Amino acid sequence: METDFQIQCPYCGEFIWMEFYPEDGLKQDTIIDCEVCCRPISLTVQFSESEDPPYLDVRRSQ
Ligand SMILES: [Zn+2]
Repeated sequence: METDFQIQCPYCGEFIWMEFYPEDGLKQDTIIDCEVCCRPISLTVQFSESEDPPYLDVRRSQ
């Protein structure tokens, strides 16, 4: 199962690696601060119960 996710900051374009584990829940919402521009990034990860790759949504946090 893929647990490393490359996320692109929607503000500055910096790539950030994050780890998510399906053991923590098939759907996870979190907000992180970009390491470069320090602005909040809203993330949603949805793991599939089949072999499909996880779905990742990256948005600007309001
Ligand atoms: Zn950034």
